[in-house]
Amino acid sequence: MTANLFIISAASGAGKTSLVHALLQQDPAVRLSVSHTTRAPRPGEQEGVHYHFVNVTTFQRMQEEGDFIESAHVHGNRYGTSRSAVEAQLAAGFDVILEIDWQGAAQVRKLLPQAVSIFVLPPSLEELARRLNDRGQDSADVIAIRLAAAREEMRHVTEFDYVTINDSFAVALEDIQAIVRAQRLRSQAQLKQHAALIGTLV
Ligand code: 5GP
Repeated sequence: MTANLFIISAASGAGKTSLVHALLQQDPAVRLSVSHTTRAPRPGEQEGVHYHFVNVTTFQRMQEEGDFIESAHVHGNRYGTSRSAVEAQLAAGFDVILEIDWQGAAQVRKLLPQAVSIFVLPPSLEELARRLNDRGQDSADVIAIRLAAAREEMRHVTEFDYVTINDSFAVALEDIQAIVRAQRLRSQAQLKQHAALIGTLV
């Protein structure tokens, strides 16, 4: 079986997490890599589901021991993708999604050039600001900082294999599903998966 590795990045507020959640619900062959982070859990976030929440000492030890495929500082916290967890999922035949920032995406691309990367853009700056505003009770200052960080993230869109614009959620989800499907249909994967059939045909 040839499993695929997908990277999804976006400016915060573009809707990436909801899109990934919908993809996971609709496609049982896809698994999300649960990252390690030093940031504190937000209300409702569960250990092992949204993140593995670890302290800085544990994070650093894991990093020194080569436990991460990639790691980055994002908004003052540290995030990393577990090598063993990703390898185990891929070996079990699942396609794996890494929901990571552009710095992590660059590291994964270098290490695993076969990874397929997707960037989710908002339909406009105004809409992005509106979505960031809708998130909660943050002050105008906090929203301005988030918007600036989002613009910084979006500068890296050119480094990605695919881009989808999340204007209509349903269309953006279809785009991502199409990318996943096209990757599964690549001849190298198909020749392996359907070796017996192809042997009888050619
Ligand atoms: P949040 O703290 O809001 O969940 O995530 C903040 C940012 O960190 C998001 O852009 C998210 O994609 C990124 N992020 C989450 N996990 C990882 C990871 O394992 N590695 C990297 N490089 N970025 C991550």
